[in-house]
Amino acid sequence: MTNIVLFGPPGAGKGTQAEVLKEKYNWVHISTGDVFRFNIKNETELGALAKSYMDKGHLVPDTVTIDMLKAEVEKNPEANGIIFDGFPRTEAQAEALSSLMEEMNSQINAMVALEVDDEVLVNRLLERGKSSGRADDANENVIRERIAEYYRKTDILKKYYQQQDKYYGVNGVGRIEEITQRLSDVIEAL
Ligand code: AMP
Repeated sequence: MTNIVLFGPPGAGKGTQAEVLKEKYNWVHISTGDVFRFNIKNETELGALAKSYMDKGHLVPDTVTIDMLKAEVEKNPEANGIIFDGFPRTEAQAEALSSLMEEMNSQINAMVALEVDDEVLVNRLLERGKSSGRADDANENVIRERIAEYYRKTDILKKYYQQQDKYYGVNGVGRIEEITQRLSDVIEAL
């Protein structure tokens, strides 16, 4: 089983690339953001809670997010690989993921990060906001807060995986296919 954390700030292209890689390698794609949005759409209790954080550009609390992620992983016992998109985003989440993988006699093989400059991110997200229907893409202040939250809580995970020799940075600027190729080169050399 190959398990990859696809990493990078908001707007780096994780969702787009995860969808391509999922098809290419026959993996399961788990996006915590997508699961939250599904819950918001279906007006669940979890959705209402998540929305109150997401609308401000803040992270949803760890306990809620970790429980949800575990449930998603457990729905896919037959997966031959999982691509994690948007998780982990804090050190507590990374620790929880590591324990979960251990319980499954598996592991995270690599964190592959899409590297993109902040100003490019803001422009991409504003552009996406014109058609994505995502409230958190429509407002520049919320976009900047999401990027700030990334540097406050998430960016340190680079170090977490570097210490385990599992971090691979990839240039996230270019055509979608070019970036997929860069990611595939890393994945196929694992
Ligand atoms: P995303 O779709 O990955 O950009 O996530 C959208 C929003 O969902 C984030 O800004 C957070 O509010 C929330 N979210 C998604 N994944 C996580 C996570 N792993 N931990 C906490 N909040 C999350």
